[in-house]
Amino acid sequence: METNGKPDRTPSPHLPFGDQRSAPFYGKDILSVRQFSREDLAYIFGVAHEMREMVARVGTFDLLKGKILANLFYEPSTRTSSSFTAAMERLGGSVIPINEVKYSSVSKGESLPDTVRTLECYADVIVLRHPEVGASAEAANYARKPIINAGDGVGEHPTQALLDLFTILEELGEADGLTVTMLGDLKYGRTVHSLARLLSLYDVKLNYVSPEILRMPPEILAEVGAQDIPQTETRRLEDVLAATDVLYVTRVQKERFEDLADYEKVRGLYVITPETLAQAKERMILMHPLPRVGEISMEVDDDPRAAYFRQMEYGLYIRMALLAMVLGKA
Ligand code: ASP
Repeated sequence: METNGKPDRTPSPHLPFGDQRSAPFYGKDILSVRQFSREDLAYIFGVAHEMREMVARVGTFDLLKGKILANLFYEPSTRTSSSFTAAMERLGGSVIPINEVKYSSVSKGESLPDTVRTLECYADVIVLRHPEVGASAEAANYARKPIINAGDGVGEHPTQALLDLFTILEELGEADGLTVTMLGDLKYGRTVHSLARLLSLYDVKLNYVSPEILRMPPEILAEVGAQDIPQTETRRLEDVLAATDVLYVTRVQKERFEDLADYEKVRGLYVITPETLAQAKERMILMHPLPRVGEISMEVDDDPRAAYFRQMEYGLYIRMALLAMVLGKA
Protein backbone atom coordinates (compact mmCIF):
# COMPACT_ATOMS: atom_id res chain seq x y z
CA MET A 1 0.00 0.00 0.00
CA GLU A 2 1.06 3.59 -0.62
CA THR A 3 2.14 5.52 2.44
CA ASN A 4 1.22 8.91 0.97
CA GLY A 5 4.26 10.27 2.75
CA LYS A 6 2.66 10.06 6.20
CA PRO A 7 4.96 9.42 9.15
CA ASP A 8 5.42 5.69 9.71
CA ARG A 9 3.49 4.75 12.81
CA THR A 10 4.35 1.59 14.66
CA PRO A 11 1.21 -0.42 15.34
CA SER A 12 0.21 -1.08 18.91
CA PRO A 13 1.15 -4.59 20.04
CA HIS A 14 -2.22 -4.90 21.81
CA LEU A 15 -4.85 -4.34 19.19
CA PRO A 16 -8.23 -4.44 20.88
CA PHE A 17 -10.14 -5.79 17.88
CA GLY A 18 -9.74 -8.28 15.08
CA ASP A 19 -7.09 -10.93 14.69
CA GLN A 20 -4.25 -9.03 16.37
CA ARG A 21 -2.17 -8.91 13.19
CA SER A 22 -0.36 -5.65 12.61
CA ALA A 23 -2.56 -2.73 11.58
CA PRO A 24 -1.64 -2.25 7.91
CA PHE A 25 -3.73 0.87 7.35
CA TYR A 26 -2.78 2.70 10.53
CA GLY A 27 -2.27 6.40 9.77
CA LYS A 28 -2.82 5.87 6.04
CA ASP A 29 -4.96 7.89 3.64
CA ILE A 30 -7.73 6.24 1.63
CA LEU A 31 -7.55 8.12 -1.68
CA SER A 32 -8.08 5.70 -4.55
CA VAL A 33 -9.02 2.06 -5.01
CA ARG A 34 -5.73 1.75 -6.88
CA GLN A 35 -3.98 1.53 -3.53
CA PHE A 36 -5.58 -1.83 -2.63
CA SER A 37 -4.47 -5.38 -3.33
CA ARG A 38 -6.78 -8.37 -3.08
CA GLU A 39 -5.14 -9.20 0.23
CA ASP A 40 -5.97 -5.70 1.52
CA LEU A 41 -9.57 -6.13 0.42
CA ALA A 42 -9.93 -9.47 2.17
CA TYR A 43 -8.66 -7.81 5.32
CA ILE A 44 -11.01 -4.80 5.05
CA PHE A 45 -14.00 -7.04 4.37
CA GLY A 46 -13.08 -9.28 7.30
CA VAL A 47 -13.12 -6.25 9.61
CA ALA A 48 -16.36 -4.96 8.03
CA HIS A 49 -17.94 -8.36 8.63
CA GLU A 50 -16.96 -8.19 12.30
CA MET A 51 -18.41 -4.68 12.48
CA ARG A 52 -21.67 -6.00 11.07
CA GLU A 53 -21.82 -8.65 13.76
CA MET A 54 -20.92 -6.20 16.53
CA VAL A 55 -23.63 -3.74 15.42
CA ALA A 56 -26.18 -6.56 15.36
CA ARG A 57 -25.07 -7.77 18.80
CA VAL A 58 -24.41 -4.56 20.77
CA GLY A 59 -25.23 -1.62 18.48
CA THR A 60 -22.60 0.80 19.74
CA PHE A 61 -19.24 0.10 21.34
CA ASP A 62 -16.20 2.03 22.51
CA LEU A 63 -13.46 1.08 20.04
CA LEU A 64 -12.83 4.71 19.00
CA LYS A 65 -13.84 6.39 22.25
CA GLY A 66 -12.21 9.82 22.46
CA LYS A 67 -11.42 9.95 18.72
CA ILE A 68 -12.80 12.74 16.53
CA LEU A 69 -13.71 12.68 12.86
CA ALA A 70 -14.01 15.87 10.77
CA ASN A 71 -16.59 15.33 8.04
CA LEU A 72 -15.76 17.98 5.44
CA PHE A 73 -18.23 18.08 2.53
CA TYR A 74 -17.94 20.62 -0.29
CA GLU A 75 -20.62 18.78 -2.30
CA PRO A 76 -24.04 17.47 -1.26
CA SER A 77 -24.28 14.08 0.40
CA THR A 78 -26.87 12.09 2.31
CA ARG A 79 -25.54 8.54 2.62
CA THR A 80 -21.78 9.06 2.66
CA SER A 81 -21.82 11.84 5.22
CA SER A 82 -24.46 10.32 7.50
CA SER A 83 -22.96 6.83 7.33
CA PHE A 84 -19.52 8.17 8.30
CA THR A 85 -21.17 10.01 11.19
CA ALA A 86 -23.08 6.90 12.24
CA ALA A 87 -19.92 4.79 11.84
CA MET A 88 -17.90 7.08 14.13
CA GLU A 89 -20.66 7.30 16.71
CA ARG A 90 -21.30 3.55 16.72
CA LEU A 91 -17.60 3.16 17.49
CA GLY A 92 -17.89 5.57 20.42
CA GLY A 93 -16.16 8.51 18.72
CA SER A 94 -17.50 11.94 17.82
CA VAL A 95 -17.83 14.07 14.72
CA ILE A 96 -17.22 17.66 13.61
CA PRO A 97 -19.73 18.03 10.77
CA ILE A 98 -18.95 20.59 8.08
CA ASN A 99 -21.62 19.87 5.54
CA GLU A 100 -22.34 23.40 4.57
CA VAL A 101 -18.96 24.83 3.69
CA LYS A 102 -20.71 28.11 2.94
CA TYR A 103 -21.02 28.61 6.69
CA SER A 104 -17.33 27.87 7.24
CA SER A 105 -14.26 29.95 6.41
CA VAL A 106 -14.24 28.37 2.96
CA SER A 107 -16.77 31.06 2.03
CA LYS A 108 -14.20 33.67 3.11
CA GLY A 109 -11.80 32.24 0.53
CA GLU A 110 -9.82 29.82 2.68
CA SER A 111 -7.82 27.29 0.65
CA LEU A 112 -8.31 23.53 0.95
CA PRO A 113 -4.81 23.02 2.45
CA ASP A 114 -5.50 25.61 5.16
CA THR A 115 -8.95 24.21 5.94
CA VAL A 116 -7.50 20.73 6.25
CA ARG A 117 -4.59 21.91 8.40
CA THR A 118 -7.10 23.62 10.65
CA LEU A 119 -9.34 20.61 11.06
CA GLU A 120 -6.49 18.25 11.82
CA CYS A 121 -5.69 20.36 14.89
CA TYR A 122 -9.04 19.25 16.27
CA ALA A 123 -9.70 15.88 14.66
CA ASP A 124 -7.90 12.53 14.27
CA VAL A 125 -9.16 11.76 10.77
CA ILE A 126 -10.73 13.83 7.97
CA VAL A 127 -13.35 12.60 5.50
CA LEU A 128 -13.38 14.89 2.46
CA ARG A 129 -15.79 15.30 -0.44
CA HIS A 130 -14.78 17.90 -3.00
CA PRO A 131 -15.83 18.80 -6.57
CA GLU A 132 -12.29 18.65 -7.99
CA VAL A 133 -10.52 15.50 -9.15
CA GLY A 134 -7.42 14.98 -7.01
CA ALA A 135 -8.60 17.23 -4.14
CA SER A 136 -8.20 14.46 -1.55
CA ALA A 137 -4.68 13.70 -2.75
CA GLU A 138 -3.85 17.39 -2.49
CA ALA A 139 -5.32 17.56 1.01
CA ALA A 140 -3.34 14.47 1.99
CA ASN A 141 -0.11 16.16 0.93
CA TYR A 142 -0.71 18.84 3.53
CA ALA A 143 -2.28 16.82 6.32
CA ARG A 144 -0.47 14.70 8.86
CA LYS A 145 -3.70 12.95 9.86
CA PRO A 146 -5.42 10.41 7.57
CA ILE A 147 -7.61 11.76 4.77
CA ILE A 148 -10.44 9.59 3.45
CA ASN A 149 -11.68 10.47 -0.04
CA ALA A 150 -15.48 10.60 0.03
CA GLY A 151 -15.69 11.56 -3.65
CA ASP A 152 -13.45 13.90 -5.66
CA GLY A 153 -15.53 15.31 -8.49
CA VAL A 154 -15.72 12.87 -11.40
CA GLY A 155 -12.59 11.13 -10.14
CA GLU A 156 -13.10 8.40 -7.56
CA HIS A 157 -15.31 7.34 -4.69
CA PRO A 158 -13.21 4.60 -3.11
CA THR A 159 -15.29 3.97 0.02
CA GLN A 160 -18.37 3.52 -2.19
CA ALA A 161 -16.53 1.00 -4.35
CA LEU A 162 -15.46 -0.90 -1.24
CA LEU A 163 -19.04 -1.07 -0.01
CA ASP A 164 -20.21 -2.03 -3.50
CA LEU A 165 -17.77 -4.92 -3.66
CA PHE A 166 -18.61 -5.89 -0.08
CA THR A 167 -22.28 -5.98 -1.12
CA ILE A 168 -21.47 -8.27 -4.05
CA LEU A 169 -19.50 -10.60 -1.79
CA GLU A 170 -22.07 -10.69 0.99
CA GLU A 171 -24.96 -11.20 -1.45
CA LEU A 172 -23.44 -13.51 -4.07
CA GLY A 173 -20.62 -15.16 -2.11
CA GLU A 174 -17.75 -14.30 -4.46
CA ALA A 175 -16.70 -11.92 -7.20
CA ASP A 176 -14.63 -14.28 -9.35
CA GLY A 177 -16.60 -15.59 -12.29
CA LEU A 178 -19.24 -12.83 -12.25
CA THR A 179 -20.49 -10.70 -15.11
CA VAL A 180 -21.02 -7.15 -13.89
CA THR A 181 -23.00 -4.69 -16.02
CA MET A 182 -22.67 -0.97 -15.30
CA LEU A 183 -25.40 1.19 -16.76
CA GLY A 184 -26.10 4.90 -17.10
CA ASP A 185 -23.65 7.75 -16.70
CA LEU A 186 -20.30 6.03 -16.98
CA LYS A 187 -18.51 9.21 -17.98
CA TYR A 188 -19.21 11.36 -14.93
CA GLY A 189 -20.14 8.67 -12.42
CA ARG A 190 -17.22 8.40 -10.03
CA THR A 191 -18.64 5.31 -8.35
CA VAL A 192 -18.32 3.25 -11.54
CA HIS A 193 -14.81 4.58 -12.13
CA SER A 194 -13.73 3.22 -8.76
CA LEU A 195 -15.76 0.03 -9.01
CA ALA A 196 -14.43 -0.95 -12.46
CA ARG A 197 -10.86 -0.48 -11.22
CA LEU A 198 -11.52 -2.46 -8.06
CA LEU A 199 -13.24 -5.32 -9.87
CA SER A 200 -10.30 -5.61 -12.23
CA LEU A 201 -8.48 -7.35 -9.36
CA TYR A 202 -10.95 -10.23 -9.80
CA ASP A 203 -11.76 -12.65 -12.58
CA VAL A 204 -14.84 -10.76 -13.84
CA LYS A 205 -16.41 -9.72 -17.12
CA LEU A 206 -17.50 -6.08 -17.35
CA ASN A 207 -20.27 -4.71 -19.56
CA TYR A 208 -20.80 -0.98 -19.95
CA VAL A 209 -24.22 0.22 -21.09
CA SER A 210 -24.56 3.93 -21.85
CA PRO A 211 -25.42 6.45 -24.53
CA GLU A 212 -22.50 7.51 -26.72
CA ILE A 213 -21.87 10.76 -24.82
CA LEU A 214 -21.68 9.02 -21.43
CA ARG A 215 -19.24 6.21 -22.22
CA MET A 216 -16.68 4.99 -19.71
CA PRO A 217 -13.55 7.19 -19.98
CA PRO A 218 -10.84 5.68 -22.19
CA GLU A 219 -8.22 5.78 -19.44
CA ILE A 220 -10.35 3.51 -17.27
CA LEU A 221 -11.01 1.13 -20.19
CA ALA A 222 -7.26 1.00 -20.73
CA GLU A 223 -6.45 0.44 -17.07
CA VAL A 224 -9.00 -2.34 -16.70
CA GLY A 225 -7.99 -3.82 -20.07
CA ALA A 226 -4.38 -3.99 -18.89
CA GLN A 227 -5.58 -6.49 -16.24
CA ASP A 228 -6.94 -8.74 -19.03
CA ILE A 229 -10.55 -8.14 -18.02
CA PRO A 230 -13.04 -8.70 -20.88
CA GLN A 231 -15.01 -5.48 -21.41
CA THR A 232 -18.01 -4.87 -23.69
CA GLU A 233 -19.57 -1.49 -24.49
CA THR A 234 -23.12 -1.22 -25.80
CA ARG A 235 -26.05 1.15 -25.84
CA ARG A 236 -28.61 -1.61 -25.37
CA LEU A 237 -29.13 -3.30 -22.02
CA GLU A 238 -30.90 -6.18 -23.83
CA ASP A 239 -27.55 -7.16 -25.37
CA VAL A 240 -26.08 -8.12 -22.01
CA LEU A 241 -28.89 -8.41 -19.47
CA ALA A 242 -29.50 -12.16 -19.61
CA ALA A 243 -25.86 -12.96 -18.78
CA THR A 244 -25.60 -10.35 -16.00
CA ASP A 245 -24.98 -11.32 -12.35
CA VAL A 246 -24.73 -7.76 -11.03
CA LEU A 247 -26.60 -4.89 -12.67
CA TYR A 248 -25.15 -1.64 -11.34
CA VAL A 249 -27.34 1.32 -12.30
CA THR A 250 -26.22 4.94 -12.00
CA ARG A 251 -27.85 8.35 -12.10
CA VAL A 252 -27.10 10.73 -14.94
CA GLN A 253 -24.96 13.33 -13.14
CA LYS A 254 -26.83 16.47 -14.12
CA GLU A 255 -24.53 18.74 -12.10
CA ARG A 256 -21.48 17.73 -14.20
CA PHE A 257 -22.88 18.70 -17.60
CA GLU A 258 -21.51 21.83 -19.23
CA ASP A 259 -24.54 22.03 -21.52
CA LEU A 260 -27.89 21.13 -19.95
CA ALA A 261 -29.29 20.45 -23.43
CA ASP A 262 -27.00 17.39 -23.51
CA TYR A 263 -28.41 16.27 -20.16
CA GLU A 264 -31.95 16.55 -21.51
CA LYS A 265 -30.99 14.26 -24.41
CA VAL A 266 -29.92 11.42 -22.15
CA ARG A 267 -32.07 11.73 -19.03
CA GLY A 268 -34.62 8.98 -18.66
CA LEU A 269 -32.97 6.83 -21.32
CA TYR A 270 -32.83 3.76 -19.11
CA VAL A 271 -35.45 2.82 -16.54
CA ILE A 272 -35.35 -0.51 -14.74
CA THR A 273 -38.85 -1.92 -14.26
CA PRO A 274 -40.29 -5.30 -13.23
CA GLU A 275 -40.34 -6.10 -16.98
CA THR A 276 -36.57 -5.56 -17.11
CA LEU A 277 -36.02 -7.90 -14.20
CA ALA A 278 -38.24 -10.52 -15.84
CA GLN A 279 -35.48 -10.83 -18.46
CA ALA A 280 -32.72 -11.15 -15.84
CA LYS A 281 -31.30 -14.16 -14.00
CA GLU A 282 -33.10 -15.47 -10.93
CA ARG A 283 -29.84 -15.25 -9.02
CA MET A 284 -28.56 -11.75 -9.69
CA ILE A 285 -28.52 -8.43 -7.83
CA LEU A 286 -29.59 -4.95 -8.82
CA MET A 287 -27.42 -2.24 -7.29
CA HIS A 288 -27.40 1.58 -7.32
CA PRO A 289 -25.15 3.94 -5.34
CA LEU A 290 -28.20 6.23 -4.89
CA PRO A 291 -29.73 8.76 -5.09
CA ARG A 292 -31.93 7.42 -7.88
CA VAL A 293 -33.79 9.96 -9.94
CA GLY A 294 -36.03 7.71 -11.98
CA GLU A 295 -33.56 5.06 -13.25
CA ILE A 296 -35.13 2.32 -11.11
CA SER A 297 -38.88 2.21 -10.80
CA MET A 298 -40.17 1.89 -7.23
CA GLU A 299 -42.16 -1.17 -8.33
CA VAL A 300 -38.85 -3.04 -8.38
CA ASP A 301 -38.09 -2.36 -4.70
CA ASP A 302 -39.80 -5.47 -3.37
CA ASP A 303 -38.00 -7.82 -5.74
CA PRO A 304 -35.48 -9.79 -3.63
CA ARG A 305 -32.86 -9.02 -6.27
CA ALA A 306 -33.13 -5.28 -5.54
CA ALA A 307 -30.07 -4.86 -3.33
CA TYR A 308 -29.71 -1.06 -3.22
CA PHE A 309 -31.16 -0.56 0.26
CA ARG A 310 -29.06 -3.38 1.68
CA GLN A 311 -26.08 -1.86 -0.17
CA MET A 312 -26.52 1.35 1.87
CA GLU A 313 -26.46 -0.60 5.09
CA TYR A 314 -23.25 -2.40 4.08
CA GLY A 315 -21.75 1.09 3.73
CA LEU A 316 -22.00 1.59 7.47
CA TYR A 317 -19.89 -1.51 8.20
CA ILE A 318 -17.27 -0.63 5.57
CA ARG A 319 -16.92 2.89 6.95
CA MET A 320 -16.69 1.61 10.53
CA ALA A 321 -13.95 -0.76 9.36
CA LEU A 322 -12.03 2.00 7.56
CA LEU A 323 -12.19 4.40 10.51
CA ALA A 324 -11.04 1.71 12.94
CA MET A 325 -8.24 0.71 10.57
CA VAL A 326 -6.79 4.15 9.83
CA LEU A 327 -6.93 4.95 13.54
CA GLY A 328 -4.95 1.81 14.36
CA LYS A 329 -7.72 -0.13 16.08
CA ALA A 330 -8.19 -2.95 13.60
N1 ASP B 1 -23.86 9.26 -4.24
C1 ASP B 1 -22.98 8.89 -5.33
C2 ASP B 1 -21.84 9.87 -5.46
O1 ASP B 1 -21.65 10.71 -4.61
C3 ASP B 1 -23.70 8.67 -6.60
C4 ASP B 1 -24.43 9.85 -7.19
O2 ASP B 1 -24.37 10.96 -6.65
O3 ASP B 1 -25.07 9.64 -8.21
O4 ASP B 1 -21.07 9.78 -6.40
